[in-house]
Amino acid sequence: MQTITEPSRETSVIHKTDVLVVGSGPGGLAAALAAARTGVDVCLVERFGCFGGNITVVGVEGFAWYRHEQTVEAGGIGREFEDRAKDMGAAVPESQSLSYEIDSEGFKLVADRLVEEAGIHGMMHRQFVAPVMDDNRVTGIIVESKAGREAILAKVVIDATGDADVAHRAGAPTHKTPLEDMQAASVMFHLAGVDKLAFMAEVHRDPHTYKDWSTGEWTVETDGKEDDMFSPFLKKPFAKAIEDGVIPAHLNTIAGTWGAMHDTGELTYMNLVHLAEVDGTDPDSLTKGEIEGRKQAMLAIEALRRFMPGCSGARLRNFGMSIGIRDTRKIDAIYNMTEADVRHEGRFEDSIGIYPEFIDGYGVLIIPTTGRYMHVPYRAMLPRKVKGLLVAGRAIGGDKIAHAATRNMACCAVAGQGAGVAAALSVKSKTDLDDVDLGQVQAELVRQGVRIS
Ligand SMILES: Cc1cc2nc3c(=O)[nH]c(=O)nc-3n(C[C@H](O)[C@H](O)[C@H](O)COP(=O)(O)OP(=O)(O)OC[C@H]3O[C@@H](n4cnc5c(N)ncnc54)[C@H](O)[C@@H]3O)c2cc1C
Repeated sequence: MQTITEPSRETSVIHKTDVLVVGSGPGGLAAALAAARTGVDVCLVERFGCFGGNITVVGVEGFAWYRHEQTVEAGGIGREFEDRAKDMGAAVPESQSLSYEIDSEGFKLVADRLVEEAGIHGMMHRQFVAPVMDDNRVTGIIVESKAGREAILAKVVIDATGDADVAHRAGAPTHKTPLEDMQAASVMFHLAGVDKLAFMAEVHRDPHTYKDWSTGEWTVETDGKEDDMFSPFLKKPFAKAIEDGVIPAHLNTIAGTWGAMHDTGELTYMNLVHLAEVDGTDPDSLTKGEIEGRKQAMLAIEALRRFMPGCSGARLRNFGMSIGIRDTRKIDAIYNMTEADVRHEGRFEDSIGIYPEFIDGYGVLIIPTTGRYMHVPYRAMLPRKVKGLLVAGRAIGGDKIAHAATRNMACCAVAGQGAGVAAALSVKSKTDLDDVDLGQVQAELVRQGVRIS
């Protein structure tokens, strides 16, 4: 490949902070809030014009759709996201669980409010492009924006980009699932103009269960207990659309869940388009995925208009601001979580929070209707070979099935809160992240309302 040499340049340092969080999804937002509440200066950098990550950018609204009576959880900032959204009119009861469906637009305001209240220095519209390194220690980041190239320095950096961008560029080992096994990407959308009464009457007349997730195209392994439980799942309209030639036969991947049916006729969080082999770290692949995903979404809407009661007057309200990516880089952490940890209630001395036995991905679906849960270990956020850096959110260390649990937003918030507290205490005690006093981290997390054991 042809290359060019860029001239070296002086870069302005526009900000200095104690803890710098890059990316503001459930992982990064929780990390920033937790660090600020532990009493240090925090800066939160985000490439888009809102905080919230997949919730606000992609339109992923099902924050805790796994929750049932027996479910045991960490509480903490993840729960606060739901509670604050509900208090601010940005959540409605979720259809399959004892949780709230978060309104993706309303959550932009919730996140703004939380960031302001915590005194966090928020910086939107700045994209991380390179780490600032002192030998193998990350001491800040370079961002690009309309203002050009700028530097932000920090005592500790938390990579919450979802894609381990900072860790990867800093030289920490990361890995990706082979493209053919990667979880599908989705272009998400929301509808307006749905007749709620007619739609819900059909849902009740012909209820779907998690067993229906196994379709012609893919099979989903459950524990058996999930098979009779209600799932807001749609597949028959798309099968009919294929029969009638509205959708081409090879697109039998169009099917999936709906989120909330609002009184105002909006049907939101339409998770119906699943695109194989989209690499979220390759902009060319993302470009193809965006365009193909929007085409498939319009076919799905046409099928709903024709074959789903209540949807004849439906129209596209909006797409997510970006294609939704489930699966990219994970770090090779000091401890990489395993399938056994998430399936068999893993227990760790360095637990920074718990997460119920909820596994959703790579063909496995286990709903935590029992009281079973695992610990999330601090070491899964510590990358190898690089100092001054923690990784929170969906890029923490683990195998495929471990990620089918840890990628979920409430688990990303658990990891984020743990990372934020550990980062803040490492700054306060002038201790490296790999030497931070875990007893103190756990005590602070408990003080912040997190269940750690
Ligand atoms: C279509 C879809 C449906 C899903 N459904 C569910 C569900 O129902 N329930 C559930 O719990 N989970 C669901 N997930 C998974 C979940 O949304 C993600 O795993 C989770 O949001 C990851 O959180 P995170 O904080 O690690 O990253 P993200 O939510 O991806 O946030 C990362 C943030 O970092 C920012 N960022 C990235 N790179 C840079 C950079 N270089 N510079 C600056 N900022 C950057 C991004 O803009 C973003 O705001 C779904 C995912 C998808 C894609």
